[in-house]
Amino acid sequence: VSADRGPAAPSGTAPGLGEFELIRRYFVREGAPRRATLGIGDDCALLDAGGTESLAVSTDLLLEDRHFFADVDPESLGHKTLAVNLSDLAAMGARPLAFTLALALPSADPRWLERFAGGLFALADAHGCELIGGDTTRGPLALCVTVLGTVPPALALRRDRARPNDDLWVSGALGAAAWAVAVRRSAGTWPACEAGDAQGDCDAGDAGDDARRRTGAAPALAAARARLERPAPRVALGLALRGIAHAAIDLSDGLAGDLAHVVERSSRASGAALGATVEAAALPVDPALDALPPAERLAFALGGGDDYELLFAAPVAARESVIAAAAGVGLTLSRIGRIDPRPGLRLHDARTGTTELHARSFDHFR
Ligand code: ADP
Ligand code: MG
Repeated sequence: VSADRGPAAPSGTAPGLGEFELIRRYFVREGAPRRATLGIGDDCALLDAGGTESLAVSTDLLLEDRHFFADVDPESLGHKTLAVNLSDLAAMGARPLAFTLALALPSADPRWLERFAGGLFALADAHGCELIGGDTTRGPLALCVTVLGTVPPALALRRDRARPNDDLWVSGALGAAAWAVAVRRSAGTWPACEAGDAQGDCDAGDAGDDARRRTGAAPALAAARARLERPAPRVALGLALRGIAHAAIDLSDGLAGDLAHVVERSSRASGAALGATVEAAALPVDPALDALPPAERLAFALGGGDDYELLFAAPVAARESVIAAAAGVGLTLSRIGRIDPRPGLRLHDARTGTTELHARSFDHFR
């Protein structure tokens, strides 16, 4: 999961050791016995459970002040705690089965717990995902879900199966959640907005025009905040893309960095150096960002994080099937570029030409 706050490296972390290098160096064990069909490095691990379906497993940990603001509505927090995990199942094309919930709570506040559980179970019920266990302790607020799903292994949407000339597609709209975080951080609190006034600007205090532009109109900020606090996991889309998409990832850390994961893993798995080109004009920037300058809209869409949309690669010949799959689940898709048979990530913009796309996505240790 990405985070709402700037990370500070814990003492003892070697300078320059990033999140993914840390995992690779200390937790990926070369030559270890491999019982998993798919181990560390994808949205879920896949385990052969003996039948025709594999078990898909993923864990996400959410910490106060790092993944969510301390004053978040508990119902939204319950929703998001499960949503980010269901999103990893979606990215695998897996069907939700069950989850466990580990909680550290500063106190046992019945009103808080009722709202948290309400948000959690509303989403769980919508996806037929059953809570089967967990752990509860007193401590600084922390929430950890492990989610289990099922997928026939040959149909799993792995990150490492993209092929040269595949189309790149993304669901929904990008950038709103990251913009909401930026507004909240710069204002220090959620700006007071004129409720019910569609034209009403949010009060950016004494900070002046620039802050007001960044803060935006009330409806835009409310929409962006909803994207941040109540992401909709694209489970139905993941299921509909089984047998159609070659590779998929959910966008938790920003499109550029998440695309880099797909390209890196697909290159390694195929033995061919792959890259990708993204068409700037095709990026579905969230309309909540309409008032921002074009360069900022692009930056939030490419590097923002917390979108929880699906990015996937599919063959050109499957375009009609892809569009039909999206229509079947009521989602809009954008065809944003392609996988190239040469290394590097590129951004093509009609105005500025083709430039290197920097895969600077969220990393907890950078
Ligand atoms: P996602 O964004 O899909 O949740 P991450 O980027 O957090 O995935 O993690 C990348 C990969 O590394 C995943 O396969 C995840 O399961 C694995 N991973 C993360 N932390 C650890 C760890 N401490 N030990 C083993 N595997 C880990
Ligand atoms: Mg993921």
